[in-house]
Order: sequence, then structure tokens, then C-alpha cells
Amino acid sequence: MKISKVEVFRLPTANSAQNSPIGCRVYTDTGLYGDGEAGMAYGIGGDAAYSMVVDLAKLVIGMDPLQTELIWETMHKRTFWGQNGGPVIFSGIAAIDVALWDIKGKYFNVPVYQLLGGKVRDKLRAYASQLQFGWGMVGESEQLWAVKPEDYAHNVKLAVDEGYDAVKIDFFDRDEEGKPLSFLDTTGFLTPKQYKMVEARMAAAREAAGDDVDIIMENHSLPDALGAVQLAKLAEKYHILAFEEPNSPTPQTVEYITKYTSVPIANGERIFSRWQYAEYFKKNLVQLIQPDVGNCGGISEVKKIADMAHAFDVGVQVHAAGSPLCTDVAIQLECTLPNFIIHEHHVCNRMDTSLGLTKYNRQPENGYFTIPDLPGIGNEFLREAIDHAVLHQIVE
Ligand code: MG
Repeated sequence: MKISKVEVFRLPTANSAQNSPIGCRVYTDTGLYGDGEAGMAYGIGGDAAYSMVVDLAKLVIGMDPLQTELIWETMHKRTFWGQNGGPVIFSGIAAIDVALWDIKGKYFNVPVYQLLGGKVRDKLRAYASQLQFGWGMVGESEQLWAVKPEDYAHNVKLAVDEGYDAVKIDFFDRDEEGKPLSFLDTTGFLTPKQYKMVEARMAAAREAAGDDVDIIMENHSLPDALGAVQLAKLAEKYHILAFEEPNSPTPQTVEYITKYTSVPIANGERIFSRWQYAEYFKKNLVQLIQPDVGNCGGISEVKKIADMAHAFDVGVQVHAAGSPLCTDVAIQLECTLPNFIIHEHHVCNRMDTSLGLTKYNRQPENGYFTIPDLPGIGNEFLREAIDHAVLHQIVE
């Protein structure tokens, strides 16, 4: 079996400037094909990731799609810029790698999880993520962006009433009037006013959640280490389960933060490849990793990172923030990991912007995902969506 052509596309969504998934379909000379996604649907640089997939596709035409390790190493080491790359390189590698695993599963007629060691769990605990954005259902356009403490309580209650026993919230992304905080607002020490604002929001969320619901504190790497230590003190007071992306992730600054807090640190959607993760593991600077299956080199790489984490008693929540295809890739991998902790279910994956892109749009029930048994990754992009791509190219 040989790779015969690769179709690369950037899909439109309702708010395409903010969230426009980048996908690929790898075809073989047998008629089998597989789908993958480059995890830069949002933020700046998605068009670069699209171009990276196109360039990598040229490299893999004619190769055997079952040789996932050989192809991964070729993309990493025979591209000059692959080694020590960042999100663009590793998103491109991820898109191709995931499509190859999809082909491999279909070829052997098994779900991908069977090829990764089989299921350790039949269902995956999920948390309602980014509740500061609201917690609307698919098809609902109205989201309550939390500003006042009672807004936070409201959004937490929506998720808890739906059966979730874990949530994640950024308490420090807007000011008391609802204006987005600038980098000047979020770096350096928090002002006394900011500190009180965050505490009021956190206290309201904890009261609404009760004692039996876990809260993860998100910070999107926006504070620096000075503010992060202050935030960590509040996190300790309100029994926060993990402190995610406390600052711009570098081992030397995270080391400072870990010295002053007992709250477990979550990090990873801005850390790329096993070589970058190794620095965090060897000094125990992270307790919960979140490698993005769409921007960290795909299933081949994230599996290696997760296994390396296991040797340090570090837990895993695979990061997946793209189309519903990414969610399915994460589920296939997470169910095989003994050190899986929890799955992030992002509010965007419930919104109407996720509809019409993929064959399935799986949602958790009572806070748990079940694992599909379809061959491969168990999902694919819809032809109607690909036909409306804003960027599209066939490499053969
Ligand atoms: Mg995050």
C-alpha cells in the first residue's frame, strides 16, 4: 500500500477568523483514506500550518502509510526545520500522522485504541471547560460571558446540573466591567483590586460547585511568575485541583512557581515534542500534562510523551481544541493511557460552529465520554465541508 495523494483544506466556520479547522485527507492506492487535523484552528498562524501540511504531504507521497514511525522520523529529521520546531511544524506533522493512524485502523479493521494497547477504561471522565465563556448548548448562540461573581456561579451550575463533576475556569481574563485584560494588566504583581476581583469570582464558583466538584484554574499563560504565585495562593484556599498554564511556559520560571505552591501544575498545549517535555519531567515541574494531539506531532508523539510522563507519576489530559475530529483522536488515545486523568470538553465543542464539519460530533453524557468502536479514529470530515474550504489543495 502506498500514499497516492493528500488533500489539504482549511474549513470555514461561523466565526472563521477565530476558529477555522485545518484538515487533511491522505489517500492510498488501495482506495483507503484517513483524516487528520493540524491543531491551529484558532489564534494566529493557521495558514502557516495549512502550508506546512501541504509541504509535508509532498514528502510522504509514495511511502507506505503503515510505516508511521518511519514517516514521522522523515517529517521530523528530513525537513531541515523539523527538529526543535514549534506549533507550525508539529501541527503539520500531527495532521499527517493522525491520518496515517486512521488508515492503519481501517486497514486492520480495528479502532485506533486497539493498535495502542487496547482500552484501559470504557469511559472517560470529562470536565466542562472554559466556563468564563459561558456554557451554552449546541445550536444556542447566547453565551453568558462571566464577569460578575454571580455569572461564574451561574455557569458552574449549568455544567454541574448537566452531570459534570469537574469544571475549568479562567478567573483573570476580564476586568470588573467586562473589558478584556491586556498583557500589561496580567503581568507583574496583581493589584490589590485585581486580587479581590479574582477571589470573589473563585469563591462564587467554589460555592456554586460545592465540595464534590473539582475546579481547574486556567490562566492561558498570560500572567508571569510573580502574579502566578499570588493566584496560586488563592487556588490553595479554594481547593483548586490544578493550576493550568500559570505563566509563559519555560522550565526556569515554572520552577519558581512550584517552589511557592502546593497546587499541581498543568501545562503542555504550548510545549512541543518529547524533547521539550523531558525538561519538565526531570525536575518534576508539571503534574498534569496536556500535549495537543493536533499540534504536538500527532498520535505517535503524544503517546510517547504520555508514556514518558507515566515514569514520573504525571497525569494526562490530551489537549484537543479544533473540529470534533480532534476530540475523537484524543478519545482513542486517552482510553489507552493508564495515567489518563480527565478529558477537557471545551465549550466551543458544544457550539453550532462545530456542526456540519464532521460525520459525528460526540458529546459526553453525565460528564463522561464513551469510546466509539468504529475502525480508525471513528470520524471524518464531511465532503460538503471540504467542498466549501477557504483554502484547498491536492498534492499528488
Ligand atoms: Mg488551556
